[in-house]
This record gives sequence, C-alpha cells and structure tokens, in this order.
Amino acid sequence: MRAIIGVSSNIKEDLLSVPLSNVRAITQFGGVPIVLPNLVEEGIEEIAGTIDGLLLTGGGDIDPTLFGEEPLLGLGSIVPERDLFEVALIQKMLELNKPVLGICRGAQILSIAMGGDMYQDIYSQKDGPLLQHDQQAPNWHGSHFVEMTEGSLLHKTVGVDRFKVNSYHHQALRNMPVGFIVSGVASDGVIESFESTKHPFVMGVQWHPESLISKGDAHSFAIFEAFLNACKK
Ligand code: MN
Repeated sequence: MRAIIGVSSNIKEDLLSVPLSNVRAITQFGGVPIVLPNLVEEGIEEIAGTIDGLLLTGGGDIDPTLFGEEPLLGLGSIVPERDLFEVALIQKMLELNKPVLGICRGAQILSIAMGGDMYQDIYSQKDGPLLQHDQQAPNWHGSHFVEMTEGSLLHKTVGVDRFKVNSYHHQALRNMPVGFIVSGVASDGVIESFESTKHPFVMGVQWHPESLISKGDAHSFAIFEAFLNACKK
C-alpha cells in the first residue's frame, strides 16, 4: 500500500491553491497526495486519522497573535483560516505520532503549533549582517549554505555536514518548542531547519526541497525519501 499524504493548501479569495511541485514530489517518491481543505469547523480528527503523513507547504506569513505578538510593520499578508486549520491538524498529527514535513512557512507553522515562536521579519528584527534569504536566482538553485547539527535526524538523512539550499523567506524560526532541536543553521545564524526529538519523523526545513528536486538535488531526494518511508510504517 502506498502512503496517503495530506498536502496543505493556500486560500486566495474564493480559491484553494497549492504549487504542483509539492504534489509531484509526493507522487515521485511513491505517495498518494491529497490536497487538504483549510476548513476548521469540523473534520480535523477524521483527516488526521485518514492520512499517513502531512506535508505542510510554503506560503505567506503567519498571524503573530498565535505566538503572543502583535503585527509589526514588516509582517506580510496572512490567511487566518489556513493558520487555524494547520495548527489544529499539526497538533492532532503529533498526538497520533504520525510523520510531518514542514516546508518554509510549513516549518514555521509547525513550530508555532507546538509552542515555538518566530521573527515576523528577520531584516527588521534580527541583529547583524544577514544573508539574502529571498534569493533572486531560479528556485532550483541552492544559494546559501546550511550547517547541520551533529547527530540530528536531518544530518543522518542527508549524510553531509553542510550543503546549499534555496531561500525564499523573510520570516524565520526563533525559540524552539519544548522537545524540538535546531537541526540546521545558515552562516548568519538564521535557523534553517528543526525537528522533534520525541517523534520518529517530525521536521521542518526553511528552504524548498520540492523545487530543488527538479534538478536532481541529492539532499532533497533524501529528505522526501525519508519522509515517505516514515509514512509507510
Ligand atoms: Mn534561508
């Protein structure tokens, strides 16, 4: 049996949308993708009970009141229904001990759902010279390096200490939720990946492996392979 993977979506006006690269990444690595609806009223338990794993896709910014802050000037557009749906579904998935892979915004909402917090806008909130985290190169191009935390699940998954990733974010993880560790950091100190120490496979990456696989990036292949393998167990 192939693993059924819930793929989170975005809302714009009256439309649900999800970049096809996310859907294709799941089929490419042997899973069955199901695009999720962003409805919060009911059905979260049934969805979590049905899917074998959850792929949290990229997207816009996150409502800062979810981590106890009010909106700063650097905050971009938010989708409240999406935030609430994803937070409830993440909490249920982790309760059921099912695999979750968060990509970019997906990594951030994973952290927020479990009690972490984040920078609303690194360029106005984080000290020191920062890298360009909104790359002007094509999305299959790795633009900055990520240094792995020795012994983390992601470190073991990719099998190297340092590699290049793409970068399309102005928000970033700040304080980790309890039971989670940082698994990768950029050279300017921005957290690029994190993971649960209490679950078999719950991790977030700030970059977009679903875009890097189009040019055969081995590290992105390893991440999706590990995720799908975990979902089949
Ligand atoms: Mn980055």
